[in-house]
Amino acid sequence: MTHPLLDLPPLTPERFASIERGVAELLGTRQDVVITQGEALLPLEGCIRSGARPGSTALNIVTGPYGTTFGNWLRDAGARVVDLAVPFDTAVTGARVAEALAAHPEIDFVSLVHAEAATGNTNPVAEIGEAVRAHGGLFMLDAVASVGAEPLLPDEWGVDLCVIGAQKAMGGPAGVSAVSVSDRAWARFAENPAAPRRSYLSLLDWKERWIDGGRKALLHAPAQLEMLALEACLDRISAEGLDGVLARHGSAARATRAGAAALGIAPWVSDAAEAAPVATTLRVADASAVVGKALAARPSAVLAAGGGALAGEMVRVNHYGPAASPEAVATALEALAAALGSDPEPALSAAAAVWA
Ligand SMILES: *Cc1c(COP(=O)(O)O)cnc(C)c1O
Repeated sequence: MTHPLLDLPPLTPERFASIERGVAELLGTRQDVVITQGEALLPLEGCIRSGARPGSTALNIVTGPYGTTFGNWLRDAGARVVDLAVPFDTAVTGARVAEALAAHPEIDFVSLVHAEAATGNTNPVAEIGEAVRAHGGLFMLDAVASVGAEPLLPDEWGVDLCVIGAQKAMGGPAGVSAVSVSDRAWARFAENPAAPRRSYLSLLDWKERWIDGGRKALLHAPAQLEMLALEACLDRISAEGLDGVLARHGSAARATRAGAAALGIAPWVSDAAEAAPVATTLRVADASAVVGKALAARPSAVLAAGGGALAGEMVRVNHYGPAASPEAVATALEALAAALGSDPEPALSAAAAVWA
């Protein structure tokens, strides 16, 4: 008996290349796009180990937990690392980045997370990119939590390495990711003797054997189910229109903040301009216990307690992908109201007013 997930014809190089073009179109980029066969940490680590080396100096902008991970990879690759950290409930500014670059003229690599799903903040990449361009150096952006949730313009912003994953606002699969790579970045990788080669972390392998070979032969059997899911997810975004998808996430974030305010809950990121549209974080005492009660009342609510040390003080409303909807936001607010013993009606009408 044939099975729809199992008995598929092989994914051809043509189909793979066309999915790559779909990602490039979504990013509005003219740079090469490499699709990587694993979650987004794969291209992020690949970019860092290809771009950084002993003798290089990296500015690592830390606005959430992923920045800490990048710093560790950069140091492991032998780079000297200048950390620019801000409290995780705020954003970094272009001026702070320009200052750090001016203080360390030797910086030749900059890593930044656009939006942080874990902490609910987002950074002004346009002005940061301007500072990086004025200084020089490769600019790597983790856009996993921003793609599909807020405007993302890697070419306009001077991003050399823009990493995305499909599993957040794109509403797609988690097992495949992608990175756009500028010509400058390819040149830097090629002259780095420590850049991964003949390795699963290697981006150069894809450049030399796939892109430069005219996209005729894949390096290995592609992750077929994930590629088909990525294609379906790109098609679904085109059908809705990217602007519509972005607007849905923006409304979900505003509605959640308005509803939470009606419940007397403060946002964890107090400045709305620094709050990421992908997910809304809320300041809630005893957050793990509150989430437990909330999920008991509404098991389908897209709620989670903050990770690690934040479990005691933060509730995350993960209103991304299909959950960027009036229904999902309402369910999350009802669940929170139930957990706190509050009347849900004021929160529901505040949220509904935002969607209307
Ligand atoms: C979710 C997320 C990731 C991790 O993506 P995976 O595909 O799960 O590895 C990376 N960076 C940011 C900013 C994220 O929000």
